[in-house]
Amino acid sequence: MIDGTGSPPITNAAVVVTDDRIVAVGSAASVAVPAGARVIDLGDVTLLPGFIDAHTHIIGRTLGDPLADLAVVKDYASYGAIAGVANARSTLMAGFTTIRVVGAPNFDDMALRQAITDGRVPGPRMENAGHAIGITGGHCDENGFRPGLIQLGPADGVADGPEQIRAAVRYQVKSGADVIKMCATGGVLSEGDAVGVTQYTYEEMKALVDEATKLGRKVAAHAHGTEGIKIAVRAGVSSIEHGSFLDEEGARMMAQRGTFLVPTMMAGEAVELFAKNGVLKGLRAEKALAAGAAMRNATKIAVANHVQIALGTDAGVIPHGTNAREFGLMVEWGGLTPMAALMAGTMNGAKLLGWDARVGSLAPGKFADIVAVPGNPLADIHVTERVNFVMKGGVVYKGPGAEPR
Ligand SMILES: [Zn+2]
Repeated sequence: MIDGTGSPPITNAAVVVTDDRIVAVGSAASVAVPAGARVIDLGDVTLLPGFIDAHTHIIGRTLGDPLADLAVVKDYASYGAIAGVANARSTLMAGFTTIRVVGAPNFDDMALRQAITDGRVPGPRMENAGHAIGITGGHCDENGFRPGLIQLGPADGVADGPEQIRAAVRYQVKSGADVIKMCATGGVLSEGDAVGVTQYTYEEMKALVDEATKLGRKVAAHAHGTEGIKIAVRAGVSSIEHGSFLDEEGARMMAQRGTFLVPTMMAGEAVELFAKNGVLKGLRAEKALAAGAAMRNATKIAVANHVQIALGTDAGVIPHGTNAREFGLMVEWGGLTPMAALMAGTMNGAKLLGWDARVGSLAPGKFADIVAVPGNPLADIHVTERVNFVMKGGVVYKGPGAEPR
C-alpha cells in the first residue's frame, strides 16, 4: 500500500471501511478487523488512494471527434451532458475517483455532478468551475464564426474589464461553481490567438482573483506564455494550468507563493500528434508543436525549483479513461520520481482542490476512495494504467466485490 502522503510503502496492508469512510489503515497485523466484516482480498496488488485529475473537461465530445469543432452550433444543447455521463463512467473506472472540471458549457458539469450524487450514474467526485472566464475573442470564447452567430457574455464566461469579470465570477458561483477558471493567455486549440500571448491585464486578473477569493473560491489559470504565467501568479491564482513556457523566474515565484503547476503533458502529447497527422491545421498545428515541446521543459524547471505539482490531463483533449498515462509522462518527460508522480495524482491534487481533509490519502476519517494496481508502481509507473479495483465512498465499482453497473 502507498498511502499518497509520500510515506514508504506498507506490505500486507489492510484498510477497514465503515459506510463511506476509512476507519483504520495499516499493515494487516496492526489493523483490527471488526467481527462480521465483509472481507475483499485483492491478492497481489498495490493499494493507492483514488486518483485525482485536477484538469478535465468532462462534458462533450473529445478532440479528434470529427464533429467536435462544430459541436457548439450543430449539437443539441443536451448532447454534451449525455456524452459527459459516459465520460464520467470511463474516468471512474480508470481509478480517478475525484476530478476538477475546469470549464464546461451550459452548467452541464453541475447537472452531471447532481446525477452522480443522486446515484443515477457512476462517476467521480467533481469540483466544478462552470464556464471558464476569458476575454472577448480569447481562448475561452468561441471564435472563427461569422460575427453575431455566437455572442457570449459574462454569464457564459466572456468578460472584459473588472466590472464584467466580477459579474462573470458571481454568476458562475451563483450557478454552482466551487472553483473559478480563468484564461490568462492564448491557447493551442482556440482559433486566431497566439499561444503565448497574455490576454487579461494584471488589473483584470486581480479583480477576478479578488472576487473569487471574497466568495471563498480558488482560481485556476490557463496560462502558456511566460509573462501571462507571472501576471497570474502575482494576481494570486492557486494554480497555473499547462504552464508551457514557464521560465526560472516564474518557477521561483510559484514556489515562493505556493502556486501549483498542473502540467497536462498528455494534452501536449495529443496535440503534437494531431498536428503531425493533420487533424490540427495551420496556426493551431503550429501552436500545438511549439507548446508540446515547451511543456516537457517547463515541468523540469518546475521540479528543479520545488514548485508543487498536481496531476492534470486536460481530458477531453485526450480520451476520458486514459488519464493515468499522465503518471508515466510526469516521470519520463517531467523528471518526477514515481513517488512524486503518485503524490501529484493523489495528495497534491487534494490540496490544490482544498479537499485534503476528505480525499487524497488513505487515512482514517477520509472517504473510502481506494484503487488497486497490479505490481509495484514505484518500479513501473505504467501499472497505474491498469487499475483493477475501484472503490469510491465505500462502494465497489470495479474488481472483486463490484456490483454490475
Ligand atoms: Zn483545459
